[in-house]
Amino acid sequence: MTENYAPDTFVVSGGRPAHEHDAPVNPPVVFSSTFRGAGSVDISTDKVYARFANPSWDGMEEIVAQLEGASQPGLLFPSGMAAIASVIDLVPAGSIILLPKHTYMASVTMAKDLERRGIATVVRLDIEDTDSCIRAFEEAAASAGVSAETVNYAAPKVLAWLESPTNPMLEVADLPALCQAARRLGIVTAVDNTFATPLLQQPLSLGADVVVHSATKYLSGHSDVLLGITATNHEELYQAMRHHRITNGAIPGPMEAWLGLRGLRTLSLRVERAVANAQELAERFEKHPMVREVRYPGLPSDKGHELAKKQLKGGFGAVLCIVLDADAEQTERVVQALQLWTPATSLGGVESLVERRRRHGSEPESIPVSLLRLAVGIENVDDLYADFERALAILGD
Ligand SMILES: *Cc1c(COP(=O)(O)O)cnc(C)c1O
Repeated sequence: MTENYAPDTFVVSGGRPAHEHDAPVNPPVVFSSTFRGAGSVDISTDKVYARFANPSWDGMEEIVAQLEGASQPGLLFPSGMAAIASVIDLVPAGSIILLPKHTYMASVTMAKDLERRGIATVVRLDIEDTDSCIRAFEEAAASAGVSAETVNYAAPKVLAWLESPTNPMLEVADLPALCQAARRLGIVTAVDNTFATPLLQQPLSLGADVVVHSATKYLSGHSDVLLGITATNHEELYQAMRHHRITNGAIPGPMEAWLGLRGLRTLSLRVERAVANAQELAERFEKHPMVREVRYPGLPSDKGHELAKKQLKGGFGAVLCIVLDADAEQTERVVQALQLWTPATSLGGVESLVERRRRHGSEPESIPVSLLRLAVGIENVDDLYADFERALAILGD
């Protein structure tokens, strides 16, 4: 039985064809828009048509569901946002969506779009202030009239969208406390676990109802494909997300699913190396005279460190932020002076990326103009640091 394997084994051993003589070692990529069949149809068991099912998705779905400790199958989507939509779109008219002040911008946009259309009210949370979040939960539950007895996982009247660590400020939320309070109040909790990966953090075990990933990032790992994935323990929620995928046609292509699975095989090695690099870089940047602030939950000086130690097992992620002693223009010059680091948005690939977040007009003004988000890859850490030292030296000119 594969069930007992450790996660670093299961990413390699899971999602393979049956152990039979002459079976291929890797699952084949299935290019077919339809499947043979006659007579009555049951879409919960029959493939029927490729918007309902494709065997090319199964490997990633099996592995990620297992890594997240989910009892329901994983659901693969063509992007992280398609996965997120399969949860956020479930809210009925008159619902409330709670989400952090700093969180992935497109998730905020999606919730705000529902607000503009009169479907939901959006409430923002200061995720580091657990008491204020719980007060917001209590108010939302009271005003929407939900309770633990009446919660509808397929159509959540109050949805708490959580992210930890957050993008890009790397704030750490007390996930067990928030999820427990939400459950007591009849609020459904979703955690965007993209930054942590299921190797470091399993939100379902911390009390969350559903986990989503932009599998574009660490799970696929090579900056060559967009994918998303969800995992849950609630059958009604799984069915609702699957229904959403089918009716919206939000299905990943077979080639993309194959690329994702191919990348996923090395997840534990990549994450281990990238996390070690990030920790080392954070410690070095903390001593650099041109760096005013380092945000990384792995630093004992970081305000989220104690919480992160309890929730993140085996490392603190591979994204860190540095705030330079510089203005926006000088910070851009530093970015342009880098040779090894690639200036680009995104994260989770083998190559290190750097981005001044405020280059996006949509980024809130609470993000410093000289904040650089470093998505640390798997290169040699001395080369990564030396490149930055060289680039930062121009600030002295
Ligand atoms: C990238 C990202 C997303 C969106 O995923 P796509 O694959 O780009 O659609 C959502 N959440 C987080 C935290 C991300 O980093």
